[in-house]
Amino acid sequence: MDAPIDLLEVLRSGLPGRPEPRRHIVIVGAGIAGLTAGLLLKEAGHRVTILEAQNRLGGRIFTYRGFAGQMYGEFGAMRFPRQHRLGQYLIHDRFGLKTTPFGMEDPDTFIHLQGRSIRRSEFTAASFELGLPAGERGRLPAEILRSAMQPLIDLVEQPGGWLRLVDEYDTFSLIGWLNHRRVSEQALWLLGPLLNLEGRFHFSLVEWFTHWYDDVFGDLEFIDAGSDSLPKAFGAALLDDIRLGAEVQGIVQDDRTVGVTFKDAVGTRQVVTGDECIVTVPFVLLRHMEIAGLDPEKWFAIRNVYYGRAHKIFMQFSRRWWQEDEAIQHGVTVTDLAIRNVVYTPAGQDPSSRKGVIIASYAWEQDSMAYSMLSEDQRIAQALEDLIKIHPQAATTFEFGISYDWALDRYAGGIGPLFRPMEMTSRYFDDVVRPVNRVWFANDACDRRGRRWIEGALNAAVRNAWAIHSGMRNALPEIVEEG
Ligand SMILES: Cc1cc2nc3c(=O)[nH]c(=O)nc-3n(C[C@H](O)[C@H](O)[C@H](O)COP(=O)(O)OP(=O)(O)OC[C@H]3O[C@@H](n4cnc5c(N)ncnc54)[C@H](O)[C@@H]3O)c2cc1C
Repeated sequence: MDAPIDLLEVLRSGLPGRPEPRRHIVIVGAGIAGLTAGLLLKEAGHRVTILEAQNRLGGRIFTYRGFAGQMYGEFGAMRFPRQHRLGQYLIHDRFGLKTTPFGMEDPDTFIHLQGRSIRRSEFTAASFELGLPAGERGRLPAEILRSAMQPLIDLVEQPGGWLRLVDEYDTFSLIGWLNHRRVSEQALWLLGPLLNLEGRFHFSLVEWFTHWYDDVFGDLEFIDAGSDSLPKAFGAALLDDIRLGAEVQGIVQDDRTVGVTFKDAVGTRQVVTGDECIVTVPFVLLRHMEIAGLDPEKWFAIRNVYYGRAHKIFMQFSRRWWQEDEAIQHGVTVTDLAIRNVVYTPAGQDPSSRKGVIIASYAWEQDSMAYSMLSEDQRIAQALEDLIKIHPQAATTFEFGISYDWALDRYAGGIGPLFRPMEMTSRYFDDVVRPVNRVWFANDACDRRGRRWIEGALNAAVRNAWAIHSGMRNALPEIVEEG
């Protein structure tokens, strides 16, 4: 077997050797995966055509610029973990984008449960009376969680530990494991909102654990000029190869070519013919696309990738009362209210003005669905009502709000792919990532460790670009990132 490839090395040094023959690669979607695959393949000497349904680059990297002055809001990705090697390479080394730390912990933020707000700095194990059983009473929620996770910590710290973890624990949901470890239901009532677990309880234990153990939220940064500067930075090399407003509807393939049919902005159907096609759109959207030549196992895998819901509700205020009155600089207030999480985003503020923006509600799954059926005005009114319970100043300083519901985005189909139990191992995941003849699949669902992060999309893009360039067929190279 060939040695696993190092994806960062490939991204840094480019695809090895000149292509013989030079091929035409059609890429569906100009999100970060499509752009990265396109850049690598073009720089290696191939011809690329990127078909993008929307009138902008970036997909789920989406910066809203309708606030006053220099303020902006990240509807999509906003936090870039420093441990994400490929993302860091692109931001800093390749494109030289300026960044600032995105703090997630601020002792002045609040925990708001059962109608009471307590500063994190004042939180103790006795702050809320939940009737915890004797063995858990007096212990902080983070300690309860850590001791429940101890067997996984012990395993992952051994050589090859992560792959063994996947093998041994893939059958568990997070809540199933907490139950197995006899964490009481009273402790779950506390852990759920406090540590943001409620929306994840029924999903894969291993996926949640990996993020928690790697402390992926521990050292983050944001791009000063907005996250959309990252996809825009690809424009210099790729803009002329991207067809915007081109909604792909079907792909056919034979032994030598692929034909990709798209509808342009006025509904005219057109076809682009190439040698290979990389599909980067979220799998949930492929139900509306005809792709010829896929086997039933591939379709099963495509149908069963689960995409979660999420929304953000931004609000602009006449002054940044969270800083002026409450000494909150960044971080998150967690609540059991409908808004769930309030994010005092350091990204998108305008230092030349007293005005400011916050994310008054950032919520996932069922918590997000509770807002999906509301009108825009109702969403804002409901969220403001909740916010005022924690921050009364919001009532007199509110200027306007705007929400974004990713489940209703017809070109995203949700926030992104979430693993459920039993989906990381077995043939199922192999089928998710498996190319079928001339059709390749590279999006943030096609990477086990980085799934639902930009890093996952980058890993998948580089891996597929390498495979196409190397002349592989119906297979992908092993990667060191999984070890
Ligand atoms: C609310 C939210 C917060 C997030 N926060 C973070 C974060 O802080 N850090 C992080 O690393 N990641 C974050 N993510 C995840 C990150 O945004 C994604 O993992 C990443 O952007 C996915 O890139 P992609 O290229 O795989 O897919 P996408 O960005 O979805 O790109 C797919 C592209 O395909 C296009 N398309 C769809 N259908 C068609 C069609 N029929 N024809 C042609 N084109 C089509 C779309 O318009 C889109 O441009 C967040 C995502 C969301 C939604």
